[in-house]
Amino acid sequence: MKDIVVSGVRPTGKQHLGNYYGAVTNFVKMQYEYSNAYFFVADLHSLTTHPNPENLSLNVKQTLIEYLACGLDPDKCTLYVQSDVPQISELYLIFNMLAYLGELEKVPTFKEKVRDNPNNINAGLLTYPVLMAVDILIHNAKKVPVGKDQMQHIEMTRNFGNRFNHIYKVDYFSEPHGFYYGEAPVSVPSLDGIGKMSKSKGENTCIYLADEPDAIRKKVMKATTDNGPTEPNQPKNEAIENIFNLMKIVSAPETLNAFDEAYNNCNIRYGDMKKQIADDMIEFLKPIRENIERFKNDDTLLQKVRNQGKEKAIESASKTLKDVREIIGLK
Ligand code: AMP
Repeated sequence: MKDIVVSGVRPTGKQHLGNYYGAVTNFVKMQYEYSNAYFFVADLHSLTTHPNPENLSLNVKQTLIEYLACGLDPDKCTLYVQSDVPQISELYLIFNMLAYLGELEKVPTFKEKVRDNPNNINAGLLTYPVLMAVDILIHNAKKVPVGKDQMQHIEMTRNFGNRFNHIYKVDYFSEPHGFYYGEAPVSVPSLDGIGKMSKSKGENTCIYLADEPDAIRKKVMKATTDNGPTEPNQPKNEAIENIFNLMKIVSAPETLNAFDEAYNNCNIRYGDMKKQIADDMIEFLKPIRENIERFKNDDTLLQKVRNQGKEKAIESASKTLKDVREIIGLK
């Protein structure tokens, strides 16, 4: 298909099942369906938390390794590191002039971050949606495969692109849309029973793609549940809903139905359910973990992939930046 595709993952640590099901599995499918797909390691985005330099470069490498391990093929898509493409930073500066303080302050993820980290409310955190818009617009992408949590940022990307078109009286940027396969975007729940799986919630609430079977079993067995239903067809609370949603993602539909029926008949055994979820996760993650092991010491391959992606991404980005500079009069 012709539509241009873009998406990325921040190198803030190892990738977890949320990143996989919310984003990377779609990247892998899309690279075969779209001839112009760009996937990147969003290292500039992760600077908002001032990562230790050594950790940052290790995490960039880890994210690249995991992209390859999940099946991204550098010959089918453009696989690059965001900071290798300096045109992104220049376009970001230009788009910062188009973004209003009021709209940026209203973004729910910004408000959340202000609440969680009151000592580090930096300007980069505020303008995060601008950088994300630039990631997408720099390739003039139309489809953006992301998890549910990112959909609002895509709406802002449309606003910024349209504003550019309007101010400079051009029809240059197309409108990008969030993309997912199936009926709704996926949100993978956290193991602590509250909300979605997220790196910032801690090791024990996430299943990482690189986790060993033992670690997976231990974490899943500790996942939050309750004392079980006391009456037939009792509504599920958030923690129970989460554990069922996890099973829906990793297990066969018949397995899920059997446990759902047991819940509704008040004879569910959460221990058995968690064991089944852990077994299914271990089985599913085995080839990915093996691939991670295979790629992790192949620095020659990783460097080659990175250089190849950089070249292709710069080609597309510099064309957009050249056009933008001309449109706005920076000739
Ligand atoms: P991040 O780790 O925040 O850079 O997210 C990278 C991608 O993973 C984005 O497309 C997110 O929407 C997606 N993602 C992160 N956590 C989850 C989750 N728990 N469920 C579904 N998608 C997620």
